[in-house]
Amino acid sequence: MTNISEGSTGFDRAYNMRTRPISVAIIGAGAGGMCMAIKLREAGITDFTIFEKAASVGGTWRDNTYPGSGCDVPSFLYSYSFEPKFDWTHHYAKQPEIEAYFKHVAEKYELLPHIRFNSEIESATFDETTGKWNITTTSGETHSAHILVSGTGQLNRPAYPDIPGMEAFKGTVFHSARWNHDYDLTGKRVAVIGSGASAIQFVPEIVPKVQHLALFQRTPNWVVPKQDNKYSETAKSLFRQFPILARLHRAMIYLTLERNWLAFRRPGSFFNNAFRKAAMGEIETYIKDPAMRARLTPDYAPGCKRVLISNDWYPAIARPNVELITDGIKAITADGVENADGTQHDVDAIIYATGFESTTFLAPMKVTGLKGLDLNEAWAGGAEAHRGVAVAGFPNFFMLYGPNTNLGHNSIIFMIEAQVRYILKLIEGLSNARISYLDVRPEIMKAFNKELQDDISKTVWASGCNSWYRTEEGKITNNWSGSTLRFWWEMREPDFDEYRLVG
Ligand code: NAP
Repeated sequence: MTNISEGSTGFDRAYNMRTRPISVAIIGAGAGGMCMAIKLREAGITDFTIFEKAASVGGTWRDNTYPGSGCDVPSFLYSYSFEPKFDWTHHYAKQPEIEAYFKHVAEKYELLPHIRFNSEIESATFDETTGKWNITTTSGETHSAHILVSGTGQLNRPAYPDIPGMEAFKGTVFHSARWNHDYDLTGKRVAVIGSGASAIQFVPEIVPKVQHLALFQRTPNWVVPKQDNKYSETAKSLFRQFPILARLHRAMIYLTLERNWLAFRRPGSFFNNAFRKAAMGEIETYIKDPAMRARLTPDYAPGCKRVLISNDWYPAIARPNVELITDGIKAITADGVENADGTQHDVDAIIYATGFESTTFLAPMKVTGLKGLDLNEAWAGGAEAHRGVAVAGFPNFFMLYGPNTNLGHNSIIFMIEAQVRYILKLIEGLSNARISYLDVRPEIMKAFNKELQDDISKTVWASGCNSWYRTEEGKITNNWSGSTLRFWWEMREPDFDEYRLVG
């Protein structure tokens, strides 16, 4: 193997050499994996296979079917720029409409023949001699490809709390991301553990039907009003006839959300305080009891945890059949949940709305790079990547919605499209040259992350709260600290000098 970039000006030297066929394995048929596949084919790379652990496409929008599930990013922006939908029913679409959109994309772009459903990747190992990834599924199937792209994202594995006695409960138990639709909650006594983005959507839906709801809140959230509206038939028809209007609408949404980035740059800033004011207004409008108001008021800056949007959360929890419990959980018992003060709450069902295993990214998959390097071991101090997509020592491996590419203010689909463009250019470079692999230089990745973490340390996310953006040790592994415009700009073209080109 020769390192062809040594002593050269970088990729230019290798470019224009013989083109060779390239194969790509993609993990996950969600928003990221499907976008990658579509763009690969557009670039003439047709040898790609998507491995999907479930039986259908849509990722998080297939899994999160709880009542009221929907996206808190407006749909005109939470959709691919190259596949606009002109007839979204609402500004903020609900899960069935979003899942249907991704199914439509899979069919329209003829991705289904490329997808291996019910195929969960167990391990992937890079073979330096062939320049290929050898992949094994949990059922023992094997596959190899030059390029491995992970589209598993940050929020695909439900997180369960570690509370003593959990296995002792005799009633029904499920996680919000694996909703049990066979269980009728009507007239039941229900405990909901967690009060984050998922809980604030399904609690208002189930409160009217349950007999009693015990809501276990560990930390309150900042919740601001949701400016939702139905699109009229006239608006939909205008969007269809004049797609430019839909584009303009999308651009306006993008710019409005991008402005919110300023709110999360600095705690206590003008825009940050605007969120605080809006959220306090909601609490004061709907919650009359001062003690309850105090329990619902966060003691950290808005944005440190994701700011939530809802018009029905506070009205729901102000209802007489809801009990807000904030003094901690001591144990789960056979009959329910025991408070820190020893009060027993007997319930028929427990719903864990406790979020996702967000900071471990590709775990439990075993990804092995050069010289037997294990990805989970390489990430022992907290996941990190170069520009969110590449990890030193793991050649020809790229991630979508990987470390430090999450946002608190704008659409992940926008970020994914920028990552796909960048990865595609790397793959095209590899394909157009006689290169076996490219591997980001460790010192480049380190310098990128040093600068990123320095910047993150000044943001609202580091201002003093626990969130799914950070590891237990306090490293913020999930969020991008810049604007999405800056991300897009920096991802326009890969700098091949940042990579070792080996062939
Ligand atoms: P989440 O925001 O991480 O909320 C998890 C909740 O569970 C928190 O209230 C957390 O309390 C609580 N919790 C966790 N472990 C606990 C324990 N041991 N004891 C008591 N409480 C515990 O998770 P999520 O609501 O599923 O949302 C995660 C992310 O998914 C969102 O931020 C968003 O990005 C995405 N999402 C989006 C939407 C949408 O678009 N509308 C909907 C759902 C999810 P603490 O706060 O104290 O940790």
